[in-house]
Amino acid sequence: MGKKVLFVASECSPFVKTGGLADVVGSLPQVLNKNENTDVRVILPLYEEIITKWQGYLEWVTSIHVNVGWRSQEANIYELNHNGVHYYFIENDYYFTRKGVYGYYDDGERFVFFCQAVIESLSVLDFKPDILHGHDWQAGLAVAFAKIVEPVENMKTVFTIHNIKYQGIIPKDGFDELFNIPPEHIGGLEWNGLLNCMKSGIFHADKITTVSPTYAEEIKTIYYGEGLHSLFADRQNDLVGIINGVDVDDYNPKTDPHIHANYIYSRAKKKENKENLQKKLGLPIDAEKPLYVMITRLVEQKGLHLVQTILDEFLQKDVQFIVLGTGDFEFENFCYHAAERNKDKLVSYLGFDEALARQLYAAGDFFVMPSQFEPCGLSQLIALQYKTVPIVRETGGLKDTVTPFNEVDGTGNGFSFENYNAHEFLNALTYSFEIYHDPDKWSTLLKNVNKSNFSWKESANAYTGLYESLLETVVNKGQA
Ligand code: ADP
Repeated sequence: MGKKVLFVASECSPFVKTGGLADVVGSLPQVLNKNENTDVRVILPLYEEIITKWQGYLEWVTSIHVNVGWRSQEANIYELNHNGVHYYFIENDYYFTRKGVYGYYDDGERFVFFCQAVIESLSVLDFKPDILHGHDWQAGLAVAFAKIVEPVENMKTVFTIHNIKYQGIIPKDGFDELFNIPPEHIGGLEWNGLLNCMKSGIFHADKITTVSPTYAEEIKTIYYGEGLHSLFADRQNDLVGIINGVDVDDYNPKTDPHIHANYIYSRAKKKENKENLQKKLGLPIDAEKPLYVMITRLVEQKGLHLVQTILDEFLQKDVQFIVLGTGDFEFENFCYHAAERNKDKLVSYLGFDEALARQLYAAGDFFVMPSQFEPCGLSQLIALQYKTVPIVRETGGLKDTVTPFNEVDGTGNGFSFENYNAHEFLNALTYSFEIYHDPDKWSTLLKNVNKSNFSWKESANAYTGLYESLLETVVNKGQA
């Protein structure tokens, strides 16, 4: 059965990225489109940084008027083809020609506009999707509007929760300011008296997915549900967890142009990368010293409070540690001062740097990810691609992808700890240090790491199955 799917998202590699969402929206359509009966396209806002880098490739398609409450805004639609995927971009100077991607006082309004523009573009584009697939809160209203105004007959909707913590909440007076929808639809968009974009997507979607089976269970609980857990009581038959894959062509240490020495399994080459990085970042050069790396948004979710509590103690061991990250002032400040205190052992690089990230994945012995919660987590999967051993907390996708090393039966591809507790974390780090210095056990662990495979293949099949089940309901309805 042929299928046309439109991904609606706020970021997508290689155009614009702040985190794992961009990796997923960048790679999944490419994999799905390998099936010749499938045409997955992606629609994104045209941010300033995309214009800067891709201007020469963008082709203007048309212009439309988009109603945001009582205002009418113009939107230009552009397109381009890249790696077998057709992309559309919505341009509006006022909302999107700004530095960076998020963090503006009117982010809510910006994505109300974006979602409204997506829906209105469907009547002018020559692509009529069978399925509109929205990603995270920024696309929640596109899913909701698709149900409310039905811009394409029989179009089905899927909504994927990549992180339920960020919901896109807009004060209630925003309803009159931003929408022209009939009052009976307000209830589907509001939550606790506020407009909630994430809730709108969950409420209206035909199927809801999230990015790991464990997180699909966790978000039904008060602890992980961020105030929305009760929504899933009604929708649990429509909620499915599909683990993310990684783009194994892009994150490939054999071909990655950013790293010093390319390799597949060679530890010797990995050590060359380590030495090169030590030199570059001013750490003592010693290929035998265990190197722990973190590449992360510096926010509470990523376990930074645990890191704060035990880092100095762990650094008393003969190790090196590198943090690459950007985020909350509290944690940036901590990383900066911890590096000042531990000059020969810790480097904190505060910024977002794709090339350096890859050099860290390639050089590290261990990848540290003690998240408080983690819907899927791509970083630990990328680390495994680069044969770097993950150390994680057992939550969400981390639990589904990292199995703790068991020295008795020789199983496991990493280290993990259960509770969100700094000393459990320290124990896991200490244990990893011991295994590193035990050649037999270390080599058993590395063999398991080498065998880990998180390509998109199986997960893409799961999405295909989900789309087909939705389209069957359309066919059956037509036949009834
Ligand atoms: P999240 O999406 O919650 O931030 P993920 O683990 O799913 O976490 O994905 C994070 C992605 O962003 C990975 O590709 C990771 O390498 C990348 N990343 C995070 N912080 C940085 C940084 N400071 N510089 C470069 N890449 C980063």
